[in-house]
This record gives sequence, structure tokens and C-alpha cells, in this order.
Amino acid sequence: MTDKGHEAYEMMVGLEVHVELATETKMFCRCSARFGDPPNSNICPICMGLPGALPQPNAEAVRLAVIAALALNCSINLRSRFDRKHYFYPDLPKGYQISQFDIPLAQGGYIEIDNPRKKIRINRVHMEEDAGKSIHAGDEITTARYSLLDFNRSGVPLIEIVSEPDIASPEEARQYLEKLQRTLAYAGVSDVKMEEGSMRVDCNISVRKKGEETRGTPCEMKNLSSFRAVTRALAYEFERQKEILEAGGNIRRETRHWDEAEEVTKLLRVKQTSDDYRYFPDPDLPPLELSREFVDEIRDNMPMLPEEIVRYYTEELGLPEYDGQVLTMDPAISRFFDECVSLGGDPKTVSNWIMVELLGYMKDKGIPYDEIPVSAEHFVSMLNLIEDGLISGKIAKDVLVSVIETGKAPEVIVKEKGLEQISDEETLAKIVDEVIANNQSVVEEIKGGKDKAFGFLVGQVMKMTKGKANPAKVNDLLRQRLSEMM
Ligand SMILES: [Zn+2]
Repeated sequence: MTDKGHEAYEMMVGLEVHVELATETKMFCRCSARFGDPPNSNICPICMGLPGALPQPNAEAVRLAVIAALALNCSINLRSRFDRKHYFYPDLPKGYQISQFDIPLAQGGYIEIDNPRKKIRINRVHMEEDAGKSIHAGDEITTARYSLLDFNRSGVPLIEIVSEPDIASPEEARQYLEKLQRTLAYAGVSDVKMEEGSMRVDCNISVRKKGEETRGTPCEMKNLSSFRAVTRALAYEFERQKEILEAGGNIRRETRHWDEAEEVTKLLRVKQTSDDYRYFPDPDLPPLELSREFVDEIRDNMPMLPEEIVRYYTEELGLPEYDGQVLTMDPAISRFFDECVSLGGDPKTVSNWIMVELLGYMKDKGIPYDEIPVSAEHFVSMLNLIEDGLISGKIAKDVLVSVIETGKAPEVIVKEKGLEQISDEETLAKIVDEVIANNQSVVEEIKGGKDKAFGFLVGQVMKMTKGKANPAKVNDLLRQRLSEMM
């Protein structure tokens, strides 16, 4: 990546992100839209595309799509239209997908990324229905003997968010996607889980010499399954296209597949243009007309989005910007934080313990954000035990793990395990004297001015009390004893 030619080229990336809306039922019928049910258990003539079945739009899906579009700073088209997008695929029984073509639900939004701070423009947000799912028997489509079809996903409501090609690096793409995912999660429109396919990313990437006016020919990579796959695929594709241009060749407009195992992109097919889809207005569906009042009411009741929450945390609760960003990685985390604070927890203390201990534990055990394994009540009462001097911060870390693993209240665990901090002066004085008596040479060093050795004595007291001694009191007592001996 350090050869000379590299700096002379730039990439332009546009992302198309499909997001499943969190509705109970499908886009045009009343079948359940739940993920993970037995194959073909949520299907009917409409989502199977049987002749004569008539689609009817899902009002809740429209409401969520409007919320999403407003959260992405788009303007809403009060009149939009559903179109048929024709293509043949075994998991698309109608032979077309209902989508929106020339009049989408919303247009002209943006997402702001932080590093470098810039706006990535959003061209449009439109609604469509998902296709079914093909399951190939065998690891690869090329070696499979047969394929199975599951139509549970057929007709699940989607929005597609199409960005302008404003993204200039894999890192900017990652930031854009993270921001998009957080925003939609906070807007409450989707669970945006990439691993369950409720958020899927297609990339368009073109490369050109710096200073050129026209955009290069873009190649498309579909259905990338993680942010990592997106950044790796873009980096690879940038190099591939650059090499072709460098050698005087032309880029062909094509769809390429990112091979996760080999870390290369491979030709899938030469790209279709929109003409090939033969879009036309769906004659079964009238134009989608929204009233100004409907949109205004949604706008007036928008949920708080991450930026606003970060502002609240920093300006009202005095947290550092960094804390605000970490706590708003997921709605479940900021909700948990809010709950702890409302129970009387000190914001900065709560934040530290969430960021370091709780999230550290969850990451270790692979627990997803929306399954926080401890109640806010237990969390705050554990912090109160530290505050009241009943346990040390060090012991509290173990207490937290026990609270998570047993579900018992922290007070109960501290009692059961005999973890109360030793603050009683008489008890501590005895131990301090014993440590001094056993470490005369260290005491001499301290007397000789080597104050660093003091920490060693504190450590010995902590060791003898199995970490339960109140460190502040130990410090005081030791200093006092040593000064008496000077
Ligand atoms: Zn159905």
C-alpha cells in the first residue's frame, strides 16, 4: 500500500443499506415478520405471490420508515409510489419485488461522521419488501446438489438507504455505517443486527486519478455481512481497480462477490442497469399519500437520537465526551445508565463502572448489548457499598461478577463471602505492627529516605487481609507508625 502510485488515486464509495423494519407483520400481508421461526411457517398467498392475491401496505411499516427518514435528515415526499422491480430469482416467487423507483418515500438527507468531520449525503430512503431465502445444501452454491427455499422472510418490510458517493476511505465507510446503525437503533425502527440479516450492506466503489472531474466506472459488492467485510472489501477493490487503471485498462461495470475466506473480490456478473429491471408502477397499489399532519406528528414525537443524548450527558451530567460516545453505542446501554442515575448513582462513577467492568465482562463472555446481565438496582447498591466504605473498589469487581453469575444482591454476596472491608482501627493497627515487625529492612530503607518502599508495606497489609483492608486507613496508620519511629 506504500507504492508511489497510491497517492495519485482516490476512491469514491456509495453505500446502499437495507434495513428490516421492526414490525410485527409483513409489508403487504398480515403474516408474522418474526425472525427464526421454522421454515415456511409464516406465509400466505400474498407473500407467496400467488395469482390474484392483492397486497395492502402495512401502516406501521410506513410510520417506521418515516421516522427513519427524519432521523437521517431527509425530507419526506407526501406522495410516493410503489413500483415493480422485475428480476427472476428462486426465492422471489412473483418474479418481481415491490419497491419504489422514481418517487421514493424520502430524499436529500445526510449523516455526519466525526473523523474527518464531514457530511455524507443521503440520496434517498425508499420502502420495499424483502425476498425469501435460499438455503443451498452444501457449502457453496457451485457444489450444492439442491437448494431449499424458506419464504418466511418474503415480504418483510425493508427500507433502503442510498448514500451519495461521498465516502473516500474504508474508515469513512465504517464510521458512516456505525452512525447509521446507532441512529436507526435509537430511532427504534429496527434491531439493525447484521448477523441476523436485518441490516445488509451493498457497496459501490469507483476509483479515479486525483483531480479528475468525472467519476470512474463503479463496481458493486452485494450483501456484505459485517463492517469488517466492508472495509476489507473496499481496500482490496481500491487496489484492484487502481492496478487496472495504472496498466492503462478500463474498469468494467460489474457486480463482484467478496470472498471472506480468501479476502479477494470475484466477478459475479456484469452489472445490470435499472433498464434491465423494467420498473413500472404497481397496478395493485395506489400511490402512497401521507398527510402533512401525519408527518408533523411523527416529527414532533421523535425519540432522542445519540447526538442529543451525548449532549445531555456532557452538558447536564458533566460526563466527558468519550463517556457519552461509549454509553450511546447501544440504546440498551444508555437506558441502563439512565436507570442507574435515576436510582441515585453518581453519573461519573456509574459511567466508569459500566465502561470498564460491565462492558469488559460482557465483551469477554460475548454477551450482546441488549442482554445486560445485571439489574440497575444491584449495580447501584454495589456502588453504594464502595461509597459507604463497606467494600473496596478492588473487591467490588469480584462482587460484580458474583452478582452477575448468581443474581443475588451485592449485600448478600458480601455477607456470604465475608468480604466486608476492614476499617476497624484496632484490627488494622495490629496487622500494621506485624508487617512493620516482619519487614525491618524495608522500614530502614524508608527511614533512609527511600519512600518508594512505602507501597510495599501497604501491599503486605493488603495481602494479609486478602485485599479487605481499607486502603486509606492503612496508609494513615502506616505513616503514623513510621513517623513515630523516625
Ligand atoms: Zn403473507
